[in-house]
Amino acid sequence: MSKRGLVQEHIAKLKPYVPGKPIEEVQREFGISDIIKLASNESPIGPSPKAVEAMKSALDKVALYPDGSCFYLIKRLADFWGVSENQIVCGNGSDEIIHNIGLAFLSHAGDEVISSEVTFSQYEAAALLNACEYSSAPCINHTYSLPEIADRITDRTRLIVIANPNNPTGTIVTQSEVNAFMARVPEHVIVVFDEAYLEYVESPDFPDTLALVEQGRNVIILHTFSKIYALAGLRIGYGIARPEIISAINQVRQPFDVNSIAQVGAIASLDDPDQVERSLKVNSEGKNYLYSEFEAMSLPYLPTEANFIWFDCKRDCRPVFQELLKRGVIIRTGDIFGCPTFFRVTIGTREQNERFIRTLREVLA
Ligand SMILES: *Cc1c(COP(=O)(O)O)cnc(C)c1O
Repeated sequence: MSKRGLVQEHIAKLKPYVPGKPIEEVQREFGISDIIKLASNESPIGPSPKAVEAMKSALDKVALYPDGSCFYLIKRLADFWGVSENQIVCGNGSDEIIHNIGLAFLSHAGDEVISSEVTFSQYEAAALLNACEYSSAPCINHTYSLPEIADRITDRTRLIVIANPNNPTGTIVTQSEVNAFMARVPEHVIVVFDEAYLEYVESPDFPDTLALVEQGRNVIILHTFSKIYALAGLRIGYGIARPEIISAINQVRQPFDVNSIAQVGAIASLDDPDQVERSLKVNSEGKNYLYSEFEAMSLPYLPTEANFIWFDCKRDCRPVFQELLKRGVIIRTGDIFGCPTFFRVTIGTREQNERFIRTLREVLA
């Protein structure tokens, strides 16, 4: 027997994503029937009713394999963004595209991926999965610091991933910060802008990353149908980049990764901007309500450009989480992001937000 283990060493070291318990299970365990889940940044108002209708009709065709090229969806997206069809790739959620970017561009052990502290876990996962180094630059005031990231670039850096707006903090990097940063990024590095929450952004300083793609920079933009379009359960997202980068991702992509219901639902969602408007209205009202309640409770929070708020409960978040859970309110603890007194709460409907605040007041009292 060789001493080499069965499982590759870098794989054995991976920490699997720990999903929350199903709502039904929490209901059973605590004997409560009306649980609210404000933990995964899902849409509180759900998908476009027109998309739901279109998806119901598409059920008739589930015996057939989906269109592996996402022909109609890519055509619709190209039109929507004013880019060519060969500049778009779809995936089984943008998570899968991050995974595929890792497969396509990180081959050699020793390659490096850079991102930030206090961010989405899938960037580190893509690095470790490919036996690469992962370096997280310090966050300054809970915001990505692009100068800190640029300082970490070496000859071995292959990918830089920037969540903009960032999850879990809801902050953005601005156009001028991105301009200064891109001037420091060399040709051998690809910069991924994960813009999962783009549609919620209100700031006029949000960067035009499409312009970077059009300039031929090594930039990949990621968007998703999981958030404002409320199709998280279907798993569909897409990337925009120059054609050479898109073909490389297509080389590693599984042939039927995006299912047929998701393709139909995504097209119909793009055709219903009214639902996006409704969603933005609920989000902006909820945001202002939660800001004023956090202020009334003297809990520090970060103004958000997304559909969730990062706030400080000023004590260990774990016992607070447990007490909220017992009362049927589920939010995301900050300890998993390295911030043990923080929480991320998804902005819900008015009723959900009020119930969350009432319960939080009770628990913190
Ligand atoms: C929710 C989220 C996504 C979306 O992932 P999908 O796989 O498309 O559901 C991507 N990036 C970030 C930072 C997110 O928070």
